[in-house]
Amino acid sequence: MNLLDELRAAVGAAQVLEGGDLEAWELDQRRRWRGRALAVVRPASTAEVAAIVRACAAHRCAIVPQGGNTGLVGGGIPDASGSQILLSLQRLNRVRDIDTANLTLTAEAGCILQHLQQAVAAQGLLLPLSLAAEGSCTIGGNLATNAGGTQVLRWGNARRLCLGLEVVTAQGEVWDGLTGLRKDNTGYDLRDLYIGSEGTLGVITAATLELAPQPAATLTALAACATLADAVRLLEGTRARLASALTGFEAMGRPALDLVARHYPDLPRPLPGAPWTVLIEQSDPEGEAPARARLEALLADAIDAGLVADAVVAESLAQSRALWRLRESIPLAQALEGANIKHDIALPVSALAEFVAAADADLQRLIPGVRLINFGHLGDGNLHYNVQAPVGSDARQFLAEREAEVNAVVYDRVASLGGTFSAEHGIGALKRDELAARKSPVALALMRAIKSALDPAGLMNPGRVL
Ligand code: FAD
Ligand code: ZN
Repeated sequence: MNLLDELRAAVGAAQVLEGGDLEAWELDQRRRWRGRALAVVRPASTAEVAAIVRACAAHRCAIVPQGGNTGLVGGGIPDASGSQILLSLQRLNRVRDIDTANLTLTAEAGCILQHLQQAVAAQGLLLPLSLAAEGSCTIGGNLATNAGGTQVLRWGNARRLCLGLEVVTAQGEVWDGLTGLRKDNTGYDLRDLYIGSEGTLGVITAATLELAPQPAATLTALAACATLADAVRLLEGTRARLASALTGFEAMGRPALDLVARHYPDLPRPLPGAPWTVLIEQSDPEGEAPARARLEALLADAIDAGLVADAVVAESLAQSRALWRLRESIPLAQALEGANIKHDIALPVSALAEFVAAADADLQRLIPGVRLINFGHLGDGNLHYNVQAPVGSDARQFLAEREAEVNAVVYDRVASLGGTFSAEHGIGALKRDELAARKSPVALALMRAIKSALDPAGLMNPGRVL
């Protein structure tokens, strides 16, 4: 049998899509990478995934796994050859178990993150992973990329929330590593190998995740800071005062919020003109009134100390959502403004202000008028340091012509201050050469050894990461 007939036999002809409009799977959401698949195959069970992988292995056909296709580094799009199978996990979307006593959720890879948040909230529990793409990204994609998001400072990234995995190996075998144990020192940690491997080692088909109780109250505040260094000092003070109730600390530079104001003029902007605006989220087990009192006292003291010029605390859920929408609209406003050079960097928070001052100066010297759209998860040192073409110049041309030199400036600065060029989005196709150039030879050799041990034929998402 030829491969496509085998795939039809495995999942049914209706779930093997060829020809026609496959743009939803072949074009990434930044519209930067467009591939062509031999077919899009849509299994609905782990057994079907295993059958697909075995058939592809027998025919030496490469597989590109894909979840919600919200990735930002071109890792989930087939290449242009028309010879790769796009394996969509979207139909693998059952919640298998919520264990309220053990505080765990077991769900299939194609479950949309927001659906999982809602399913556990209905039981009074919290899945503390949150990102702006949560309405369309999948938990399998979150684990394959080790996603971060807005609550990492309190709960860690996707890796820290994952207790167990089910994986279809590159040979088409099923590894059942689903467990809700907090302790399990039985040999090498296979789970952590697959997390963050971006589909290059195997296919994640299900996961067990750690949950938390829902907080009694969640409050959101905005604070205006004159400098990024002040915002970092505010973080230090807020951590000390709120301790584990501090669940979000995002920073937004003025040019980022100016872009939001331009493209979303109806969104209220409570602290216009602030050089840096900080969004603080407090999730408190004690209830609304004491939580609000603590937050207001903290902000009043920060104003007295000269760290904060002005601040607002949301009075209602609707107001709180509007403040978050300001933050979440930045990447959308940037996309509307035109293609741009994105950096997803992390540094020790103590080095962030120095980095931004130096990199801003370098880039303004290199490209007069360049727009530096900085925002990100300040609480864990992760900045989206994005570079937008000067007003009036062609954005696509800017991206094509200047990306390499801009990256060199930014990543050299990042490296000199002990940071990383990929904090949460991964490597994919976009940063593969960067990884090869900047990771140590020893680390690269170890990664290649892992790749060739787990995927000796090189059929799992080839050309990505390594
Ligand atoms: P895809 O885009 O479909 O795939 C991503 C990678 O994972 C690909 O390499 C793919 O091959 C692989 N993959 C997917 N599913 C599987 C599987 N089941 N098994 C093996 N490999 C698989 N990311 C953050 O970390 N933090 C953020 O705050 C954040 N904010 C975002 C905001 C917006 C508006 C957008 C568009 C994206 C954002 N992202 C963020 C990036 C993206 O949402 C994450 O990388 C997300 O984890 C990808 O999930 P996905 O299901 O869409 O995966
Ligand atoms: Zn982010």
